Amino acid sequence: MKTSSVLHYDVIVIGAGHAGTEAAAASARLGARTALLTTNIDTVGQMSCNPAIGGVAKGQIVREVDALGGLMGKAIDATGIQFRLLNCRKGPAMHSPRAQADKKAYQNEIKWLVESQPNLDLLQETVEGLWTEQTSEGTRIRGVHVRGGVTYQAPTVVLTTGTFLKAIMHTGEEQVAGGRAGEGTTSGISGALRDLGLELERFKTGTPPRLNGRTIDWSQTERQPGDDQPQPFSFLTDQLPTPQMDCFVTYTNEKVHDLIRANLHRAPMYSGQIDSQGPRYCPSIEDKVVRFADKDKHQLFLEPEGRRTHEIYVNGISTSLPRDVQDQIMKQIPGLENAQIMRYGYAVEYDFSPPTQLWPHLESKKVAGLFLAGQINGTTGYEEAAGQGLVAGANAALQVAGKPLFLPQRDEAYIGVLIDDLVTSGTDEPYRMFTSRAEYRLLLRQDNADRRLTPMAHSIGLTDQPRMDRLNQKLSDIARGMELLQAGRIEKAPADRYLKRPEVTWEQIVSHVPELATIPAEAAQQVEYDVKYAGYIVRQQEDVAKQHRLAERKIPPAFDFESIKPLRNEAKQKLAKVQPVTLAQARRISGITPADIALLMAHLENRK
Ligand code: FAD
Repeated sequence: MKTSSVLHYDVIVIGAGHAGTEAAAASARLGARTALLTTNIDTVGQMSCNPAIGGVAKGQIVREVDALGGLMGKAIDATGIQFRLLNCRKGPAMHSPRAQADKKAYQNEIKWLVESQPNLDLLQETVEGLWTEQTSEGTRIRGVHVRGGVTYQAPTVVLTTGTFLKAIMHTGEEQVAGGRAGEGTTSGISGALRDLGLELERFKTGTPPRLNGRTIDWSQTERQPGDDQPQPFSFLTDQLPTPQMDCFVTYTNEKVHDLIRANLHRAPMYSGQIDSQGPRYCPSIEDKVVRFADKDKHQLFLEPEGRRTHEIYVNGISTSLPRDVQDQIMKQIPGLENAQIMRYGYAVEYDFSPPTQLWPHLESKKVAGLFLAGQINGTTGYEEAAGQGLVAGANAALQVAGKPLFLPQRDEAYIGVLIDDLVTSGTDEPYRMFTSRAEYRLLLRQDNADRRLTPMAHSIGLTDQPRMDRLNQKLSDIARGMELLQAGRIEKAPADRYLKRPEVTWEQIVSHVPELATIPAEAAQQVEYDVKYAGYIVRQQEDVAKQHRLAERKIPPAFDFESIKPLRNEAKQKLAKVQPVTLAQARRISGITPADIALLMAHLENRK
């Protein structure tokens, strides 16, 4: 490609969505000179779909991103319009924070945080090609070519282009090229990746219509307020914006379902117009009507898109049915009979790169220095994108600095579970996080993300001193709380033993041991959980120790699995494809049996 000028950086991040902004900010926090190149700087941090952050298992990821010094938690705390702790009647491992965002304000806040970050340049550029070179060790990234004949040079590039690669949007029979309503698509990068030997596949996702709130009859809907005592996402936030706004609930009915059934032949998913896989756990309304045919209604949440807009997001009715059918559906839903659709729902099909082609630090196995993060790796969701982005950006910067990589493990973070699942097992549908994916979820609670991750982040320079000082204060409050508790007596028994009883609350303990009232609420909660769940926590920690012993057994790079003659052919192929770096990772590959691992372990022992 002809180039007129070359600009030099340590790390180039392509795409300023949820993955790209975290990647660029993490890289810059580690001191790497970082360029964040994105097609349109007015869409930095844009929410393509739901105006909300967090939710079950996703809220835990946001808390982790924050504990690692990331942007998402701070931005939602500054711009949220409603905060709720989901599953709060269940045990603490299930507690999941979620907030409605003021969509535009959120985006502006992320842009502001990115612009304010030292070492980071936010630049409006469309990347059209990847610049690579052949070395004696294989292919290596050199930089990127952007529209206008300019080249950016860097030893590492993080690719976070989301749903934009060869994207097609569908509304009924209508098809338009583009990765998000009102925006275009990118094909140069897909071609470049294929030329470099990376496999690409297709996924699809969808979004619901947005309504004009002034045309909704709210009296026919149920009000859903935020929590009375809203909890922030960021461990640094002391105050949340007020007042909170309400959401509302309504339902579909048999008339709506009949209408959908009668028009299925016009739905791109059913007419054969789309044949790629969509998110099974976030189905379109046409999917729900077909798959759950016995249900006579589905819940719909009416969620405001912000404080200064009447636009309402209809959560639960994602669809790519034609516009006229979407209009008719609304007429049958209580409260929405006269609702005007401001934006129609649509589905989008796009290229993604199966993530088993990455090392656990999210670098491509085929192209050294090229990192991939976010929806391009087959995930769905802002939070999943943000978590991967942070890890990819940090590792790109660490690689440039010649420092050890940052690899949060499955027992340390949901982000560790996410990345390990992706690179080890891949995904045959858009991957979203669930608490059930984490085997150590009692250790990976949203409330202790700072205790788990901030020291690790601080030791490599990802977080600043004020955050660490704040954690240290909390840790000393926890230690003091534990001492007071153990010294306290209730009915002659140590107070901590009393607290272990399921029915006993912290407040009851404080009424017997008044000094405990001086322990700040956040620290008191940690003491309570540490004591109440000690048995389970110890059991999970023992499991973790066993896993670590297994994980310590490293598999040499470029190991020839064919050389293990007794190993099943299927196991040889799977291991060769994933190239696990440890025995523990090999064990998690789907289809690899304990017998395969025993053979592999014996073989590695014999090589010593
Ligand atoms: P994105 O947020 O898409 O960001 C990609 C960025 O890359 C954009 O800023 C884009 O402008 C930029 N870019 C692209 N190409 C180039 C280029 N060549 N040069 C420079 N910059 C470029 N998630 C859910 O959890 N639930 C849902 O129901 C859901 N529905 C969705 C429906 C739709 C229609 C869409 C589009 C997405 C939906 N998502 C949903 C997914 C969610 O939006 C993504 O998971 C999330 O935004 C991914 O973040 P990302 O950073 O990987 O990509």
